Amino acid sequence: MKAKKKKSEPYQAKNILYRNEEINPFYMSRYSLNPYRGCLVGCRYCYVQEKKHIDSTGLEEEKDRQVQIKINAPYLLKRRLESGLEMGLIALGESCEPYGENENEYFITRRLLEILQDYAFPLHIVTKSERVLRDIELFKKINSKSFVCVTISIPVVSGGLVKKLEGDSPPVKTRLKTVKKLRHHGISAGVAVSPVFPYLTDGRETEKILRRVSASGAAYALFAPLSIKNYQREMFFSWLKEKFPRLPDSYQRLYGEGEEPSCEYWEKFMLKTKRKALELNLNIELPFEDEFGHLPSQEYLKLQ
Ligand code: SF4
Repeated sequence: MKAKKKKSEPYQAKNILYRNEEINPFYMSRYSLNPYRGCLVGCRYCYVQEKKHIDSTGLEEEKDRQVQIKINAPYLLKRRLESGLEMGLIALGESCEPYGENENEYFITRRLLEILQDYAFPLHIVTKSERVLRDIELFKKINSKSFVCVTISIPVVSGGLVKKLEGDSPPVKTRLKTVKKLRHHGISAGVAVSPVFPYLTDGRETEKILRRVSASGAAYALFAPLSIKNYQREMFFSWLKEKFPRLPDSYQRLYGEGEEPSCEYWEKFMLKTKRKALELNLNIELPFEDEFGHLPSQEYLKLQ
């Protein structure tokens, strides 16, 4: 197969901070902040690089990986904060890789963190990259005023699956080491086992992940099922048919016409996973208190 080209370009964003109607239960966040748009990593399951997601930019037909750099993001964030913003946890990197290769050149994530540090907003950072270690000293400063936790995304650990699903993601070993280093420096860190792929990663693979995550010293492991958005459906099923020909029918039964697997399936999975996680001393929710004693601000707690 022809290798995907990578394309990056500066972009003037209209808005940078989005307020969720409800607290996002996975990130526990009130706000969503994404320094980049799109991603160059190319994980097979990820919706951020879907052409329909990257709309009205003139790049809809472009099939290669692309990222847009929100060069005015620090200005927009500062303006929003100066206008007086209700306190709440900010999820940074929910729909992009905040420490992708462009961060080495543009430092957008870094500049946003510096601004957020001044305003003492609590933060939940989600990334796959060890570049996050660059900001450890800044995280310590944020922790002196509010709270930051870093979640490293590791949905699979077995070589064959990593190859099929994770594009150019950093090696699993590196990601686990990143968790370890963050914890070593007193930063609250854990892992997002997301998405969980029914019939592919919901059995032995999950147990394997939990064991390795626990060995890394992670404070928590968060789980979310694979969600198949409408516009991804056709593409996802044809990929599944090609790579795992026995699975499309089972997925069809489990998902029906919806985006998520049945509640019954997910509750059963979580019950089993919770038992295993407890044995390994892992939280399966974001702990707002850990042995480092960092807490979100009182204002944030009142919002919950
Ligand atoms: S690194 Fe994250 S944002 Fe980028 S393609 Fe993979 S899952 Fe999506």
